[in-house]
This record gives sequence, C-alpha cells and structure tokens, in this order.
Amino acid sequence: MPIRKKLTILGSGAAGLTAAIYAARANLEPLVIQGLQAGGQLTITTDVENFPGFPNGILGPQLMEEMHKQAERFGTQFIYDNAESVDLTKTPFVIKTSGEEVHSDTVIIGTGAQAKWLGLDSEQKLMGRGVSACATCDGFFFRDKIVFIVGGGDTAMEEAVFLTRFATSVTLVHRRDTFRASKIMVDRAMKNPKIKMCLNSTIDEIFDVSKNEVTGVRIRNLQTGELSEHPADGVFIAIGHHPNSDLFKGQIKMNENGYIETDGVKTSIPGVFAAGDVQDEIYKQAVTAAGTGCAAALEAQWYLEKLEAGLIPSNSEPANKANPQKAAAGVHE
Ligand code: NDP
Repeated sequence: MPIRKKLTILGSGAAGLTAAIYAARANLEPLVIQGLQAGGQLTITTDVENFPGFPNGILGPQLMEEMHKQAERFGTQFIYDNAESVDLTKTPFVIKTSGEEVHSDTVIIGTGAQAKWLGLDSEQKLMGRGVSACATCDGFFFRDKIVFIVGGGDTAMEEAVFLTRFATSVTLVHRRDTFRASKIMVDRAMKNPKIKMCLNSTIDEIFDVSKNEVTGVRIRNLQTGELSEHPADGVFIAIGHHPNSDLFKGQIKMNENGYIETDGVKTSIPGVFAAGDVQDEIYKQAVTAAGTGCAAALEAQWYLEKLEAGLIPSNSEPANKANPQKAAAGVHE
C-alpha cells in the first residue's frame, strides 16, 4: 500500500528540515525522505559560527541533529533512504524509495548540492580539519594563517579575496593559465598583494593526515611535472558545485547547470516547491537554505488550502501540463 501524504519533503539539510518544522507546526504531518547523507552538507563540517542564535558556534552535525529533533517534535515522519524515482507529471505526485511508494499532494525539493572535490584521499580525510569548500563559512578560522585555494572561476577569485581579510598569504592554484572567472574578478584578485597565483598547476597531496590537520600541500606543475612542497594551514577547494537534481531531469525546469529554476520557491510545476542549494547557485548558506525551506513550507500550506477548497483540480494533470503554452513559459497558476 502506498503511503498517502499531503506534503513530502525530499532532503534533510537545513532547507528540508526547516520546511518540515514549519509544515509540522501547520499540522500537515510532513514526510521527510532524508537521503542517505542525512543532515546534508552541514554534517561534513565542524564549527558553524554564522548560524544566528549560536554566539559560541555549534558543530554542523549537532545543528542538524537539533533541527531533526525540532521537526520530529511536531510530528514529522522520516524515511532514512534515497528517493529513487519521482513522477511529477501527474497528481498526486509519486515518489519511490527502495522500500516505499509515497503519493503526495505537494512536494518540497531540498536535495541540496555537493561541492566538487579534487578526489584526493587526504582531502577527504582532512575535510573540516583545514580543508573546506566554503570560505564564507570557514575563512574566519584562518586568521594569520597560510592558505591555498584551488579553482579559476568567479568563486575562487571571490573567495581568494575574502580570505585575505584573515590569512597572511593566499595562493590561488589553477590548472590553466587563463581563467573562467570574469575579468573584473580576476583583476581584483591579481591586484591584491596578499594573493599569489600558481598557474598550470594542481594540488596533488595535502599533508598531514597522520596529524589530523593541514600542515602543507604538494603542488604539481601540469606542464613540467615538477613537484614542490609548501607549508599551509588551510586548503579551500572552489572548483564548482553539482546540484542534486538528476532525479528531476526532464520533468521540471532547470538552468544549464542543473539548478532548479524557481520563482521565489515555486518551480515550473504547481504544487512542487524547491528550497536550499538545489535552487540556489549564489548564496549556498545554511541560513539562506533554512529561509527558503520556511518559504516553501508556507507555499505548500497555501497550495494545500486551495486544493482542499476545490480551487485546484485534484487527481488530474498539473495545471502546467494541461496548458502546454503556459508550461513552456514557466507560468505558475
Ligand atoms: P565554475 O564552474 O565557473 O569554475 C570552476 C573552476 O574550477 C574552473 O576554473 C575549473 O577549471 C576549475 N576546476 C573544475 N574542476 C577542477 C578540477 N578537478 N581540478 C582543478 N580545477 C578544476 O564554478 P564557480 O563555482 O567558480 O562558479 C559557478 C557559477 O557561479 C559561475 O556561473 C560563476 O560566474 C557564478 N559566480 C558568480 C559570482 C559573482 O558574480 N560574484 C561569485 C561566484 C560565482 P577550468 O576553467 O580549467 O575548467
């Protein structure tokens, strides 16, 4: 027997759990399909010092555990599994996990994004211990330290400049000698006396896993093959993100990078909302994810009120499907 829900939330990061807290307090008895990395990206970080309400900071995993408890307290149900397939082409929407089938009147997509990594073993082992993919989150911990940043896009340039507020030296390592970043951002980084450029190069090892902290990096020059070792206290990886949106491809409007397109938090499908990093290519912060999670829950609540009042046809094709012209234009009804 399928599980029948008014609201199903995909993802259990800051967006999904905030949506669950709001929806549960509105008596919607939401179901959260947590995903196998329950708690999202904050579970792979250590201290979080920029989430309001925690003047002394809080550990990322603890913050997520508290959000989970808060959502549970008001009646959220959880399934600890990945959503394996979704059908958003008709209502109720159908979500399948390995063991369950869920039929839901509304869906909030909060599946997040993943930072891209270089793929080094040492990088994974030292993550949160000097290796980070977010200068905004972790730059503050590198006051008077030596840091390296990898990437040649706008994020790398912006984060390199941001890191100079704290670090004594910032070395930007990029695999080519031309940049993907906009000229103005490159110029800004180039002009900053604290930033050194290390081009046609990559970091191929981060030291020291045995000490459980970053003490240095090994750089490989990709043209000459030459290796050099340098002391370092921090390594920032800024080589882009992947939104976790593959499951929805072909069903919902996305931009060319796979981020779900939203008008506020409304997607191209009425009754389906998106919150957090899966729809946010710019800010990618826990607090902005929580903010959009709240907005998505309120939108779902208002949509359900209309559905219950008979103002939206139920058990039918979504409005956009029924009107291909409006669907093409991404119009919400
Ligand atoms: P991008 O995809 O634009 O850039 C990624 C960079 O990382 C590229 O230089 C790429 O190198 C490099 N890279 C990718 N994979 C690897 C790898 N395995 N090893 C080494 N280097 C690698 O991502 P961003 O996060 O920088 O930007 C994402 C979007 O956000 C862009 O559209 C950007 O313009 C926008 N943005 C805008 C900002 C602003 O306007 N203020 C600020 C930040 C982001 P290569 O060039 O060789 O492919």
